[in-house]
Amino acid sequence: MRQWTAAKRENPDALLFFRMGDFYELFYDDAVVASRELQLTLTARDRERQVPMCGVPYHSVESYLTRLLRRGFRIAICEQMEDPKLTKKIVRREVIKVLSPGTALDSALGQEQNNFLGAYFETARDGKESAAKNGRAASPAPVVCGIALLDVSTGEFRTAEFTGPNAKAQAVDAILMAGASEVLLPTSAEPPVGLERIATKTRVDDWVWTHDFAVPLVERQLKVRSLEGFGLVGHDAAAIAAGAVLHYVRATQKNEALHIDSLRFQEHLTALELDQVTVRNLELIEPLFQGQDDRATLFRTLDACCTPMGKRMLRATILRPLVDAMAIEARYEAVGEAAGDLLRREELRRAFEGLMDLERLLARLSLDSAGPRDVRALGASLARLPGVRAAIETMEAPLWSEIAKRLDTLEGVTARIATTLVAEPPLTMADGGAIAAGIDSELDDLRSISTTGKQSIAAIEDRERQRTGIGSLKVRYNSVFGYYIEITKSNLALAPADYERKQTLVNAERFTTPELKEYETKILTAHDRSIEIEKRIFADLRRFVLDAATRIRRSSAAVAEADLLACFAHLAAGRRYARPKLSDEPVLEAVAARHPVIEQWMEETREGRFIANDIFLSAGGDGPSLLLITGPNMGGKSTYLRTAAMLVLMAQMGSFVPADSLRLGLADRIYTRIGASDNVARGRSTFMVEMTETATILNTASRRSLILLDEMGRGTATFDGLSLAWATVEYLHAETGARTLFATHYHELTMLAEKLTKVRNLRVGVKEAASGIVFLHTIEPGPASKSYGIEVAKLAGLPPAVIERARRILKQHEKQERQSVQVETDPEPMQLTIFTPLSQRIVDRIETLEVNSLTPLQALNLLEELQQEL
Ligand code: ADP
Repeated sequence: MRQWTAAKRENPDALLFFRMGDFYELFYDDAVVASRELQLTLTARDRERQVPMCGVPYHSVESYLTRLLRRGFRIAICEQMEDPKLTKKIVRREVIKVLSPGTALDSALGQEQNNFLGAYFETARDGKESAAKNGRAASPAPVVCGIALLDVSTGEFRTAEFTGPNAKAQAVDAILMAGASEVLLPTSAEPPVGLERIATKTRVDDWVWTHDFAVPLVERQLKVRSLEGFGLVGHDAAAIAAGAVLHYVRATQKNEALHIDSLRFQEHLTALELDQVTVRNLELIEPLFQGQDDRATLFRTLDACCTPMGKRMLRATILRPLVDAMAIEARYEAVGEAAGDLLRREELRRAFEGLMDLERLLARLSLDSAGPRDVRALGASLARLPGVRAAIETMEAPLWSEIAKRLDTLEGVTARIATTLVAEPPLTMADGGAIAAGIDSELDDLRSISTTGKQSIAAIEDRERQRTGIGSLKVRYNSVFGYYIEITKSNLALAPADYERKQTLVNAERFTTPELKEYETKILTAHDRSIEIEKRIFADLRRFVLDAATRIRRSSAAVAEADLLACFAHLAAGRRYARPKLSDEPVLEAVAARHPVIEQWMEETREGRFIANDIFLSAGGDGPSLLLITGPNMGGKSTYLRTAAMLVLMAQMGSFVPADSLRLGLADRIYTRIGASDNVARGRSTFMVEMTETATILNTASRRSLILLDEMGRGTATFDGLSLAWATVEYLHAETGARTLFATHYHELTMLAEKLTKVRNLRVGVKEAASGIVFLHTIEPGPASKSYGIEVAKLAGLPPAVIERARRILKQHEKQERQSVQVETDPEPMQLTIFTPLSQRIVDRIETLEVNSLTPLQALNLLEELQQEL
């Protein structure tokens, strides 16, 4: 218990798994928590003191650890550091590893998913100096936010820095978007808004988050003298976040994590920016509502990758599409070539078969949790690389050649693994028999001793049967008693006098002889010694493979990219996707565009056919830059909006797109404000969320952005909503100028198209039949004639009496509204105002007044009168 207390004191915030023989035991509060979470039986260790205790067998510990990590717990593994056989005292124990959700390596991790450990660090930019200089009360000091993201299981390591008014939100967004399962923060820092969505927040001492500690640590890890080459000089916040992550991983894994050998610094705008809201709204990775079929996501729809590395790269590319036209064109070229040649493409895709997760295997090896089977699997996967490279080399596009060049086939490593390990090694080195024959002569000798020894034992069995005349006599082995001779009770009388009694069972008696003891010692020593040698050889092999870690990772990245391109080619060929044409003008012109996910869904379920529609948008010239789409619910407005976003996104990923043709000026960001999101559940009103999202768009969008606004203003009273939507359209038209699709149920807005040069009305196609309305899902020019809300309600089965009554109310309402909405065109043609009937009456009275003939008293009375009317 003294050992336990010491280990617990070092790791107060972790569940302590304390190794005792064949079990890991938990005590006190840890036991209470674990028994509840894992449904283990709680017992008491010490009758008197009633110490709560529970435990799990060591051989099945992995699955328990996985369950706890998934629920966000930290776990410290305390091992026995000595062989209990070799010591008379209590064995020494030490915490050898601290596991947390962000550093989990277990094989149960979703393969196509990274498991990121994040770090968040913010610091004031020249905050103190400038406040002191101008002597005024400081406005909120500008902050610089640094984040780092590390996937310990693959070695992927990134950092980024954010400045400006939205720095905090963007930094938090980047961490959330990576799906980090754990985030590190300085002990004394206030967590920024949004990070509460990550269950495991781990505090790291403040001194770690300093330039002097963190930067040298990163330099040492990356084996460089300066971080200049990584673009990190002058970006301390990013470097410090990276350093904190490294410190944490080294401290918890008790290991130098050598596989982490590169770091990618993300400067702003090296990618098409998508925020968290957009990623969710467009269902890029996850369905909007939990538990929904994830085939509804873009990721599932596009995932035809063959390797785990390729799948991860696809996911990362969806979240961070490119903005570099050259890089995108290079991908089109490569995809186009492979799409046009079925045979070469299939040969390439077949070459990926059997390729396991190189990065994850390497990471296990680096963190010393790989067994001989993992290494064998790594070897088998590396053995496929020459085939992959040869298949890539049959292609001619420059990007294919470049990838082939980057793909190191690593034959030396493959050969060394193949010759060192047997074809089917045991699970752990402790089992013995993992190392092939002919590698070490002493090992070969020891093995033959143990085989001949075992043969001799068989010979002894034969001889003793003859000598005693007991046909059922057996010579056997168990780990407690060693070798023994077993005779059944009925034959006991025949046992010779030189047999020494060892153990009595219900039906049998076990004996030993001096000769048997001698063989036993020989065999067991040979076995122990050979295990020792095997472990040494395995350690050498591990070091040899790790020396090639950087090359393996580079090859793995090349495989990922080739797999991704082959996937795009496969889709382009099979689904009639077209190669986009990039333009310098900010246009989005698509002929016969389809929504990739819905189209695929309809194809699979055979529920009708997707109706293709054209999209024509141009932020420059005469436009139109803003499309205003009206029409009944369920008519296809949202789908049309989303289709535009999907085309831009896919085109900038380097993929072909679901359209007959697409001409596109690259976008810098995609913004979405779509429907009522589930934010309500998180305690903010729908309207507040909607307005916050709209504010972000109006404040940060540029002329290069793509904006989708769906049903804006729904969360408030009609006139509030209409006025806000109206003002927003005017602002987007005059100030932002970005390509915008605006779907709305406010018919009043369609008047804007007459006044604003770059606004166009579109409506969804509807056919009115005797039985009600039919949606055509086409998008046509012009404003929708009426809202059809009542028709849709009828389709949904509202009682006829309600439908009739609603029709009458609507008629009355429309009449009033027509009088109330006035569009004021002069003297400012751009200024459009909406008056309520009430204020209109007041305006009329003021307008007809003869001001000169009023007495002051009359004027005052009139003022009071008008006030009463308000
Ligand atoms: P709205 O936004 O106008 O309420 P949606 O875009 O949500 O309408 O579309 C309603 C339904 O109609 C969707 O579930 C989709 O299945 C179907 N739909 C929309 N657009 C098309 C299309 N172009 N072709 C076929 N079906 C479509």
